[in-house]
Amino acid sequence: MPDLDLDWSKPAILARRERYYAASQKSFMPYREPLVFSRGQGQYLWDESGKKYIDLLGMNVCISVGHAHPVVNAAVQAQIAQLQHCTTMFSHPVPVHYAEELAARMPAGPDWVVHFTSSGAEAIDLALVLAQTSTRNIDMLALRNGYHGATIGAQSLTGIAAFRHRMPLLGGIHHIPNPDPYRGIFGVDTQAYLDEIDRTIQYATPGRLAGLLVEPIQGYGGIVELPPGYLAAAAAKVRAAGGILIVDEVQSGFGRTGEHFWGFENHGVMPEVVVMAKGIGNGFPLGAVVAQRAVADSLAGKFYFNTYGASPMACAAGRAVLQVIDDERLQDNARHVGAALRAALLQLHARHPIIGEVRGRGLMQAIELVTDRQSKAPATPETAEIFERTRQHGLIVSKSGAHRNILRLVPPMCLQLADVEQVAQALERCFEGF
Ligand code: PMP
Repeated sequence: MPDLDLDWSKPAILARRERYYAASQKSFMPYREPLVFSRGQGQYLWDESGKKYIDLLGMNVCISVGHAHPVVNAAVQAQIAQLQHCTTMFSHPVPVHYAEELAARMPAGPDWVVHFTSSGAEAIDLALVLAQTSTRNIDMLALRNGYHGATIGAQSLTGIAAFRHRMPLLGGIHHIPNPDPYRGIFGVDTQAYLDEIDRTIQYATPGRLAGLLVEPIQGYGGIVELPPGYLAAAAAKVRAAGGILIVDEVQSGFGRTGEHFWGFENHGVMPEVVVMAKGIGNGFPLGAVVAQRAVADSLAGKFYFNTYGASPMACAAGRAVLQVIDDERLQDNARHVGAALRAALLQLHARHPIIGEVRGRGLMQAIELVTDRQSKAPATPETAEIFERTRQHGLIVSKSGAHRNILRLVPPMCLQLADVEQVAQALERCFEGF
């Protein structure tokens, strides 16, 4: 073992964090009192004092098959022992096998090819380059309330003010109204949202588009699902204007929604480009852009290089994740444990008027809190209070949405029915008195 100091005392960790982290690195602090984790196993986490939690956040949807999964860890350890890195200008069997396996997870029909990155934002940036290069158009549509990452390209496509910085972000990106049946500006009128696409193309663009980028279920935005029929009709409009459909599966992919492996499959569309990250590597830095060959080929004449893209270590993790999802039937588990979780949340909704809506699919669920169900005014301070209680009651959840009034539940896909019972009891206590 290397002889490196490691001070586990909480005050020392926090003092170092305060002294040496940049503001950008330390400003993301969910709880009033900082939380230090020491260990994870499956769907559970332990803090430095030994307190156990059910991880309903999956470390921000990264832990897809469970913390410290032995198959994933063994795959990475075996790879590290042989070769840690192999730049993409050389070849190695692990990333190419993985590209084949990932392409095989896509719907049949198109000729899918893969470009690996080490994060979601890098993958989003490449998807943007592909849209513009392959169509030779510039203008992009993205949804309000969407989150796509922090690089300049991904940030420009993000539609939430808290993640957009005071600088000239990329031009040619138009944020169209979010077709959110609960809180969207046209309510449940899907056609009205679709009409806005026509108007945006007509008045805000040269009439031609590079593409449309959507999350099939908005993650940070608060588990907002596209209404039935929207995505297929929107894609048709975008294609008529020369653009392509890019889906961001960073949160909704890899079986989490239960019914399908990819979120877009719930909508009967075939995208040209699919962006993935987070759960793809179960915590190892990995992302990918899977594109139809004709679109990907538009970059053939130039270099596009992500140094850690196709890392054999990360790709070894990615291969193992796919195998574990199959071997442990985690997509099925997401479907039936997700249904039980949803049923428990609906019971909570029936008892607590502060809950405006429970929504989601599979193991991607949310509770939206409002001051009254009629006006739907966001119950932001109350959400903060209940959120603090979830921690005390041994649950890790996330506070999401533009108004920070949504509790987001996106646990590792190995969550069990027994955990759901505990979650239901704990949440009941958290909502007491509200
Ligand atoms: N897309 C979505 C839907 C995301 O949730 C995120 C990250 N939260 C990203 C893209 C960006 O991924 P990364 O943080 O790995 O750059």
